[in-house]
Amino acid sequence: MGWDEVKEARRRLAREEGVILKDWGGRLPIALIYPNSYYVGMSNLGLHTLYRYLNSYQDIVAERAFWDKGQAIISLESQRPLSDFAVLAFTVSYELDYFNVIQILKTSGLPLYAAERNESHPLVIAGGPCIIANPMPLAPFFDALCIGEAEAILPAMLPVISGGISGKRDELLKALAKLPGVYVSRYPINIPVKRQWAPSLDEATVSSVILTPDTELGDLYLIEVERGCNWGCRFCLTKNAFRPMRCHPLDKILAEAERGLKHRQRLGLVGAAVPDHPQIEELLIKLRQMGAELSVSSLRMKPTSHIVLREMARGSARTIALAPEAGSARLRRVIKKDVSEDDILQSIDKIAGLGIKQLKLYFMLGLPSETDEDIAAMIDLTLKSKQILDKRQTGVRLVLNLAPFVPKAGTPFQWLPMATIATLKHRLSFIKSMLQPKGIKVKAESPAWSQIQAVLSRGDARLAEVLANWEDFSLAGWRRAVAKCQLDVDFYAHQRWDKTQKLPWDIIDSGTKTAHLKQELERALAQY
Ligand code: SF4
Repeated sequence: MGWDEVKEARRRLAREEGVILKDWGGRLPIALIYPNSYYVGMSNLGLHTLYRYLNSYQDIVAERAFWDKGQAIISLESQRPLSDFAVLAFTVSYELDYFNVIQILKTSGLPLYAAERNESHPLVIAGGPCIIANPMPLAPFFDALCIGEAEAILPAMLPVISGGISGKRDELLKALAKLPGVYVSRYPINIPVKRQWAPSLDEATVSSVILTPDTELGDLYLIEVERGCNWGCRFCLTKNAFRPMRCHPLDKILAEAERGLKHRQRLGLVGAAVPDHPQIEELLIKLRQMGAELSVSSLRMKPTSHIVLREMARGSARTIALAPEAGSARLRRVIKKDVSEDDILQSIDKIAGLGIKQLKLYFMLGLPSETDEDIAAMIDLTLKSKQILDKRQTGVRLVLNLAPFVPKAGTPFQWLPMATIATLKHRLSFIKSMLQPKGIKVKAESPAWSQIQAVLSRGDARLAEVLANWEDFSLAGWRRAVAKCQLDVDFYAHQRWDKTQKLPWDIIDSGTKTAHLKQELERALAQY
């Protein structure tokens, strides 16, 4: 730990509002670790929620730590090294952050694998969407993994940790393995670990705790409006990892908004399906009457409520994002995105007159059964959208965001392969050549990095060895690790898996029956 890191931590603290500083005396110290930069992590509402929740316990002190490449990891609040903490709690949202998880463990001076650690080391635990879907690639590095939502697991888990942290580590791990939603790879139970979720959000407060200008969404006060999603897109991890859909009560959101508006003019309403909140129109009208500027993380195209759009525009929304996901009606049926071309174009027509600055359209590339005709339909739909915007002469900028399809554990498409890198590159360059000359900005995620994501997403414990040998965060570094461990990338990313074979994440009971996923897959295949 150097003086530079301490100075940087203090500089960040000085620019924050809402930080919780506690004396360590007699308290269980927990390092809450986001395995990416401060800039990225401080816009993650899950991190804020855990920070608030853990610090609500009198006998716990939770401090944050982030991975800023090249810097020794210390906690932000008291600038202590991770080895000073009793518990290291990671929240893992993206597969590509697995690399950072390993670097954090390596640089903190702890033995990398859980089996090599004992009671003289911090207890290392993790949770988050990636862990809920498929904990296997990271399992050997963690003492315990949380399969589900913090509100549902931590009330039982924290007393067990507090009571057992000073005793024999094996005893603590055995006690943790008996708790609902906790997976301990050294003491696996003989039935799948049931995913846990909070039955209601009435008691949960999910909003920004610490405000800082030094983060991606630094001008927003974030408020969770709902969690989960009732739609059934067959590729979607969120749908399956966070079901059922639950909403925060209107009066609670408004109370949070009142608190937030004391610090920020703009409110960010967060959720996978914000417009599906049963009182969304009333909510937006009231928020605007309170003087809030609004940003909404998701918007629906069927039906697109004119009141929702109007209130967003009046609430100074600068960008509106729509996600048709696929260009042709056939491919949208395959993925179960239940919107027609008319729904999409009518939504864009409504949006065109609202005075926003930017419209983003999200599509996936390489979806199962995708053909050149589907790509042509995507281009056609984008050009029609542009025509509608141009006709109104409002100067709305159109941006196309493309992400390669990556099969996710626990979804109906978990058995399907992603497209080859060559196919993705070819289609991507064709789309760019057709749209960029027309003034449409095309942004795309890298096919090669998406392939790594696919391998990790469907990975098993063999991936742990690759992660441990991945020395630098580059494609070349990944390939070296893969070659050293003789991992068959093609098997994980590009092969269709047999529906009867055992899956790495069968140790999890997500709450969705495998028979249902298979039925959904069959329905998709019937549209090929
Ligand atoms: S893609 Fe969006 S709308 Fe579809 S199921 Fe997932 S969260 Fe819901």
